[in-house]
Amino acid sequence: MPGVTILGERLRQSLTERHSRHLYRQTLLRDPGCGLEQVIDGRLFVNFCSNDYLGLSHHPDVVAALIRGAKEYGVGSGASHLVTGHCRVHEQLCEELADFCGRDRVMLFSTGYMANIGVINALTRPDDLVCHDALNHASLLDGGWLSRAESKRYPHVDLESLSNMLGNFDRRRTTESMALVVTDGVFSMDGDCAPLADLADLALHHDAVLMVDDAHGIGCLGPQGRGVVADAGLTQQQVPVLVGTFGKAFGTAGAFVSGDDLLIDYLTQFARTYVFTTAMSPALAEATRTSLALLRQEHWRRARLQELIERFRTTTLMLGLKLLPGNSPVQALMLGDAATAQAVSQLLKQRGLQVSAIRPPTVPVGQSRLRITLSAVHSDEHLQRLLDALAEVAEYLQDRA
Ligand SMILES: *Cc1c(COP(=O)(O)O)cnc(C)c1O
Repeated sequence: MPGVTILGERLRQSLTERHSRHLYRQTLLRDPGCGLEQVIDGRLFVNFCSNDYLGLSHHPDVVAALIRGAKEYGVGSGASHLVTGHCRVHEQLCEELADFCGRDRVMLFSTGYMANIGVINALTRPDDLVCHDALNHASLLDGGWLSRAESKRYPHVDLESLSNMLGNFDRRRTTESMALVVTDGVFSMDGDCAPLADLADLALHHDAVLMVDDAHGIGCLGPQGRGVVADAGLTQQQVPVLVGTFGKAFGTAGAFVSGDDLLIDYLTQFARTYVFTTAMSPALAEATRTSLALLRQEHWRRARLQELIERFRTTTLMLGLKLLPGNSPVQALMLGDAATAQAVSQLLKQRGLQVSAIRPPTVPVGQSRLRITLSAVHSDEHLQRLLDALAEVAEYLQDRA
């Protein structure tokens, strides 16, 4: 059979299966609205699935910085960082981030996905073990699989399993090999925080290295928004590799890795997703500097976000709905099977609320959910509309039971 026929058959089969299991996804076409009120397919929605937790993506100062950056440096960087793509504005952003995180140095990546792939690949060797929390972000898992090291997943936040995994590795490892423990800071689908202090202790006990990806915590949680690592009071020695991203609380795009001089010097040479790609847009770097300044100064954004989260949780739990624990802006409303999650998401859509249904393979079978995200710029009225709709959801679920 011709290759194209085989390929076509393969693609059709996979898509048909996705459809029949209620797992088919579609891109939504969004037109401009006002901040979190957005037009999708010609209808106005309040967005409860954006990661723009502090509402900085539309901030006039951030927008102005993007324009200023483009005028001064150009829209594109024109080359990779190690050729001529690294502008002064990139360097300034790195220095300001290092100061913000309380770490020696920072380097930039074009996306968080690329940072994680590049870092795990560059740091590990074939004899090493990469230990993943089972709910780690896809980019971390992919980073492990693409590396030549062995990758293993321990059940979500199960320290005993991790301890056994590290203990077994200790017994067979060579003196040269290393275990890298990798975890999300705030889990992107469950919204809970990793037990970082315990993970750091365990890593120390087993001579392992701890890497934290705090995509959802940086900007939102911890003192001055420094994220969950700072919140746990952990040092650069305890968490040698810290990843943060700009696509969430910063409201821009891109990512950074921070650590000591040696780490950043090495990654600059050996992280392939840094070396062999065009440097982040300098205009975006300038916009991100402004975001950073705003999120450092404007504590009210985090206070407002926490207030909304608390009100959301109190009412939703009172309605008898099931939420996973956690005070991060990611709130998981557990619904069970994929079809129910989709039905509830549809009900909310009819009320003008955009909430995404998260289904397998993103989450395990039977743990389909709505992933509701809150933002500092949601109004009281936005939240009330969501809570009113959730009251209807609670009734709908009761009627079905
Ligand atoms: C969003 C996310 C990423 C990917 O970051 P991008 O910059 O969007 O590629 C990585 N890790 C975690 C935990 C995330 O939530």
